[in-house]
Amino acid sequence: MHQYDVVALFSGGLDSIIAAKVVQEQGRTVKALHFTSPFFGKPHRIPEWQEMYGIDIEAVDVGDEYAKLMQGPPHGFGKVLNPCIDCKILMLRRAKLRMLELGAKAIISGEVVGQRPMSQRRDALNIISRDAEVRDYLVRPLCAQRLTPTPPEEAGVLDRERLLNISGRGRKSQLALAETYKLPEIPTPAGGCMLAEVESAKRYWPVLKWSESPAANDFEMANLGRQFWKGDSWLTVGRDQEDNTRIEELAAAGDLLFKVKDFPGPLCLGRQWPGRPWSPETVREAAALTARYSAKARRHGGEIAVTVTSRGEMAEVCVPAAEPHGWDTPDWDAAKEEITALRD
Ligand code: SF4
Repeated sequence: MHQYDVVALFSGGLDSIIAAKVVQEQGRTVKALHFTSPFFGKPHRIPEWQEMYGIDIEAVDVGDEYAKLMQGPPHGFGKVLNPCIDCKILMLRRAKLRMLELGAKAIISGEVVGQRPMSQRRDALNIISRDAEVRDYLVRPLCAQRLTPTPPEEAGVLDRERLLNISGRGRKSQLALAETYKLPEIPTPAGGCMLAEVESAKRYWPVLKWSESPAANDFEMANLGRQFWKGDSWLTVGRDQEDNTRIEELAAAGDLLFKVKDFPGPLCLGRQWPGRPWSPETVREAAALTARYSAKARRHGGEIAVTVTSRGEMAEVCVPAAEPHGWDTPDWDAAKEEITALRD
């Protein structure tokens, strides 16, 4: 097995690239971990990154673990639905396991003290290493000289003199280093985490509200198509062929698949929570929504036949192609009020 000295958290952002390069410059071998979930991660870019930056990268899927964390992150959410402190803790715990498996001696991350309001304040950095139980291993190469020397520095795994002393929100030093390392592509600043974006977060909140044990699959589904909710009844409406294919891939036992029978139209998926089956009326309403999003069915008018498939059994209902009452698309302002009320 290849011997690695250091395991790195690798988001694909500039800071994570530079952290790995700084350590490679010291002659250390790096295994970079790129975490993926329904909320972040671009595993398809790994081959390209490896080629461009000369870093050995592997994808680590934390989707289901993350879905559970979302039910109640101990350190709370940031501005939107981003549990940054607990997110870092989860990633570092996984990195520690990988480090031990690989026989590496340190973990590095691209965090910069004072860069982000929630997770990169000095006290937050301390909480993160304490709760992830990585105090003996974690080094933050970009700002190491501003922090207390860590055990890997003291043990000579990494040379503190050749680590950096960056702080704050600017990118100037990082951009200068990108030039020094001749990086062929400089990633644009931050972004890429859908938990920090209102447009995505508003789709996730009803899942957290109504599911007793949300899984990655639920949030993957929430990322797709048009979303409709009526109480705890949830319907995803495919917007195009790509959505329809993905909806089919994500369909699980107990889901109801809706399709207009005689006209082209979207594939729609109703997710029934365990022990809470849909009433016949809810099924009819979801079928009507399905027909509503078929342009040809709408133009045809009258009663439209919609097939409903569940666990390999197909039934048929006839409904008007009209938007039924009470099915709403997720709304962030309402979600925010509910989140605030829960916190208080
Ligand atoms: S922005 Fe997203 S990926 Fe980054 S630390 Fe916060 S929750 Fe995690």
